[in-house]
Amino acid sequence: VVIIGGAVSIVIAMVVGLFLARRALVPIQVSWEKQQQFIADASHELRTPLAAILVNLERLFRFPDRTIEQESEKIMVGIQEARRLSKLVSDLLTLARSDSNELQIMPQKLRLDEIVQKCTQVFTQLAIVKQVNLETEIEQPLEMEGDEERLHQLLVILLDNALKYTNEYGSIYVSCKREGQRVVVLVRDTGIGIPKEDTPYLFDRFYRVDKMRSRSAEGTGLGLSIAKWIVDAHHGKIQVSSEEGIGTSFLVTLPMKQ
Ligand code: ADP
Repeated sequence: VVIIGGAVSIVIAMVVGLFLARRALVPIQVSWEKQQQFIADASHELRTPLAAILVNLERLFRFPDRTIEQESEKIMVGIQEARRLSKLVSDLLTLARSDSNELQIMPQKLRLDEIVQKCTQVFTQLAIVKQVNLETEIEQPLEMEGDEERLHQLLVILLDNALKYTNEYGSIYVSCKREGQRVVVLVRDTGIGIPKEDTPYLFDRFYRVDKMRSRSAEGTGLGLSIAKWIVDAHHGKIQVSSEEGIGTSFLVTLPMKQ
């Protein structure tokens, strides 16, 4: 337990160290204040799951006679927090690399309809488990230039949020079609919605509407800032419209040629 705890701390220290060093050395375009705020927020967000893992490991260590069944809840919390930590670290590295222009999209000819189809298939299974209805309307074929991996990531972020913030018996609608020289992707849900005053900040790093409400559904507050980076890198536009208690729509418009 001590070894695992120590190893986790060392990995986190290395990641934060790497992250800070990268930000200190590479010329970047964000302001000094924003960088400081980002580092403070990142450290805070990394500390929270780490503390939960350590507390649970220490408790297990103090009562060695208890069985795995008796301690299953603590073990589960540890696993969930470790997963959260891993997602957070990978999201932070994506954003740090995008700031330093080290991360760029690799546009190539692709079929957006196939990417959307692949993604919605996976989410249909997850939606069934949550008793949420997922409907799609996908124009075929939908050829465009873009970065396949990043566009897949964009859809995962939007669908993951739609499912996370939609209660059971709700529904999600995904459409994808051509409009002139652009493709338009819509992800709409009948979920909890977003208060008007929060929408201008949704794409800010670590911004989460009502921390308590978001905390119950796991997340990092970084998904939409990564989504925005992906859309900007494709010279596209992402818009949100939402009404509390009614639902939320994210509309992504991307040029067909890069
Ligand atoms: P998170 O990891 O917390 O989901 P995101 O950056 O993806 O972070 O989203 C930021 C915040 O925007 C979320 O915490 C949530 O409050 C709100 N949000 C995003 N998508 C939706 C949605 N479809 N319905 C309701 N709220 C949403």
